Amino acid sequence: MNDENGQTAPHPPRRARPQDVPGALVDPDEVDFGGLLPRLDHMVGRRVAFRTAVLRLEQPILSITFDDFPGSAEVPGARILEDHGARGTYYPASGLFGLTNNRWTVAGAEAVAALHRRGHEIGLHGHAHRPANRMHPRAFAADLAANRAALRRIVPGLVRENYAYPYGQCGLRQKRHVAGSVRTARSVQPGINAGRVDLDFIKAVEISARGLTEDNLDAWLDRAAAACGWLVLFTHDVAEAPSLYGTTPRVLSRIVGRAVERGFAVLPVAEALDRAGIA
Ligand SMILES: [Zn+2]
Repeated sequence: MNDENGQTAPHPPRRARPQDVPGALVDPDEVDFGGLLPRLDHMVGRRVAFRTAVLRLEQPILSITFDDFPGSAEVPGARILEDHGARGTYYPASGLFGLTNNRWTVAGAEAVAALHRRGHEIGLHGHAHRPANRMHPRAFAADLAANRAALRRIVPGLVRENYAYPYGQCGLRQKRHVAGSVRTARSVQPGINAGRVDLDFIKAVEISARGLTEDNLDAWLDRAAAACGWLVLFTHDVAEAPSLYGTTPRVLSRIVGRAVERGFAVLPVAEALDRAGIA
């Protein structure tokens, strides 16, 4: 739900601001990303690193992550990973549970609990699913805390969760808060994580028609293998006719299968960090 450069997508002015309607699931095309100041805040924020670490890997790693997340990210999404012996990371926005837009219906607490029981990682993605740079830092911190509290009620024992910025938008002060409260934060900035990485702006490539596809899959795996790096992917729905932000069961299966064939470890984000020796 972001543009490929991790910057705010251009958008026409709109009369309504759906994100202000309580209980409404905002269509990504309708999100108000604000004007110049939030954009600058994101651009500065993504360049300022509060925490870095050096990745040292003995084999390249692939992590598959699901944002928001639609019911199809569990069935068939999680099942596809499990068929390959792999597990993924899910970033639920707890305020969206059960809501429907014109693309999908968001899974609820039962899916979160079931995925955790089956070995998938549960991360954080904000409660209200608003761009971080569009929230006052105190409101952002409260929203993140609400997300964490909601998910810990569903999955007792969650600790040191990983986080993904809604729409990939950070903001300098929000990023600083994240640095003190989560294990890592995932962006939507495409690239391979290798060498010294910003733990609060992990690069990630979208699995979608405009991002990682069957056609460029091997090129991305080549880059990750050459750097002995960590390739993080993200997507939303997994359907025969996916949204602009999702993919098909066939492509997802192909990605996991090809990575395993090529000697990648396919791991949730937390396990990838463990493997890289990042606390
Ligand atoms: Zn999201």
